[in-house]
Amino acid sequence: METYIPISYLNDFIFCPRSIYFHQLYGGYAKTVYQQKPQVAGIAAHTAIDEQTYSTRKNILQATEIYCERYNICGKIDVFDIDTGKLTERKREIKTIYDGYVFQVYAQYFALSEMGYNVHNIVMHCIAHNKNYNIPLPKDAPEMHCKFEQLIDQINNFDLDTPNFTPIEAKCNNCIYNNLCDYSLC
Ligand code: SF4
Repeated sequence: METYIPISYLNDFIFCPRSIYFHQLYGGYAKTVYQQKPQVAGIAAHTAIDEQTYSTRKNILQATEIYCERYNICGKIDVFDIDTGKLTERKREIKTIYDGYVFQVYAQYFALSEMGYNVHNIVMHCIAHNKNYNIPLPKDAPEMHCKFEQLIDQINNFDLDTPNFTPIEAKCNNCIYNNLCDYSLC
């Protein structure tokens, strides 16, 4: 396991804990080798932010590297407005607000708070439908905060060789690593 948890693991681990192993294996590899169309489209949606051209205002943080000491998580935020305290995560298309999405913005929230910023609200923005979804802050959603902390524990304690792992066929069918994984059901 990494010495820190990349933010992307929070969503991926929920999808399948074993996928984290392949992430680590292919982390430094050319991304196009193992990313299929939806992943590439998702990256394209972030291009303006990653190139920090989304806004030129000085009070907007874009694609800023963050680290959360409390949970030992690192990654990047999409957009944070320092003046209003609004944290925005842009996604190419949102059909469902998965817990993994929420946990990723929680990690950003805790990191920004540690950095001394006041995060007043969190918004998930669906680019395809130009729609915003408000995400309650962890302090206002104790059950989700608890699930977030349980997930961090599970990631920290996951054993790839556990005999208790059972693959799920529907997930394997949609997994970009299904050609590489011994446990794949497809
Ligand atoms: S192929 Fe199936 S078991 Fe293997 S990483 Fe993907 S989802 Fe998990």
